[in-house]
Amino acid sequence: MSSIQKALKTHFGFDKFRSQQQEDVINAVVKGDRDVFVCMPTGAGKSLCYQLPAMLAQGITMVVSPLIALIQDQVDQLQARNIPACSINSKVPARERRQIFEDLERETPCLKLLYITPEMLASPSFQPCLASLCSRGLLARLAVDEAHCVSQWGHDFRPDYLKLGKLRSRLPGVPCVALTATAPQRVREDVTQSLCLRRPLSFSTPVFRSNLHYDVVFRDGLPDPYVHLHAFVKKALADGSAGQGCGIVYCRTRDSCEEVAHRLTRLGVSAKAYHAGLKAADRTEAQNDWMQGKVAVIAATISFGMGVDKATVRFVAHWNLAKSLASYYQESGRAGRDGLPSSCRTYYSPQDRDQMNFLIRKEIARTQAKRGSEKDQDKVAITDFEAMVAFCEQEGCRHATISQFFGDKKPDCAGACDFCKDPKLVRAQIEAASRLSTR
Ligand code: ADP
Ligand code: MG
Ligand code: ZN
Repeated sequence: MSSIQKALKTHFGFDKFRSQQQEDVINAVVKGDRDVFVCMPTGAGKSLCYQLPAMLAQGITMVVSPLIALIQDQVDQLQARNIPACSINSKVPARERRQIFEDLERETPCLKLLYITPEMLASPSFQPCLASLCSRGLLARLAVDEAHCVSQWGHDFRPDYLKLGKLRSRLPGVPCVALTATAPQRVREDVTQSLCLRRPLSFSTPVFRSNLHYDVVFRDGLPDPYVHLHAFVKKALADGSAGQGCGIVYCRTRDSCEEVAHRLTRLGVSAKAYHAGLKAADRTEAQNDWMQGKVAVIAATISFGMGVDKATVRFVAHWNLAKSLASYYQESGRAGRDGLPSSCRTYYSPQDRDQMNFLIRKEIARTQAKRGSEKDQDKVAITDFEAMVAFCEQEGCRHATISQFFGDKKPDCAGACDFCKDPKLVRAQIEAASRLSTR
């Protein structure tokens, strides 16, 4: 058994790695001769990619993370496993902070993992400690978690993350591992540049999922959109195994959740609505009924799905346009977690597009008014929405559009989208829509 395998078991209690990729990343980080960039979906086990190497390294691994709550969570988990980890941030009492500093001044500190916010890392009061650790060769590694926070193009930009680049120049020879969940291409580029990653080894989970079939249907041209949706639902559920399949229809408004659930039920498919307008108890009941398979379909606003992990979702339909291509990938990606064929469909309408566009701009104007100035990052919401619109209006492989948005190469779709299956049909639909709009 390798020392890495052994550490996995003794320190973390795991018998095996989550995935080959997790193992590959950990091997690369342990080796430590190159910076490492990790892009794996939420829940893939990214933390272990620096926590385990920290246990095998001489010295201290410093972990930068944006939120004190996130940090506290991880530190608690590590301490519960008897791993010497702690955090320095503004919420830590002075006495505890002093103890940590005392430990860091020892010849061989006990601490293995030091979690820190970027604000604290950049603060003048922390600089002597940092310089001392570095000059004594006690800084084994820098881990930057939630690394997308460094990018103005991300949804979660934190100006203090930008200071990390400068900081790195003061830590010569300390390798860096940057981690984030699936991020658009320009966010990845920003991370590499801003954190001064030198020829990083890059590990990314492929965006392409071959068991998902994507298509787009223009809603305005349909004689009865609900009948159309019903036929799609019936087919998607029938394709699944032995009647335990289920699905999600995402809607923008509470009313449309109710309407869709009502119509589907009348057409003979059991469906319930889920949205913030329901009483908490009703909402929980809808979710439980769906989880337990008592109803097949849930018509929900996007608040549904966070933390819901159901493997047998046979379809995800968007009755309204998603607000960005990144959100769409995440929402539609709740289909087919079991690896079986599943369908992702967007019902598209130009009127819906204009409405969403209006809402996004209104929201931007509101934050600008509150803040009193414009910022580049305000445009992110618009360009990401435009990517979503292009996904629907373009003649091209849907999988390719998504993969390229996230910086992956063009996948081999092999008929897993409407365009690759029948490009003429997609073109005909676009032409029919443009005739409708000029009439
Ligand atoms: P991410 O940061 O990628 O979203 P986390 O690092 O928070 O994911 O890990 C998600 C969960 O998976 C945690 O509860 C963690 O303990 C668990 N986990 C990570 N690696 C393994 C493994 N090799 N075996 C079992 N569980 C694991
Ligand atoms: Mg994480
Ligand atoms: Zn395709």
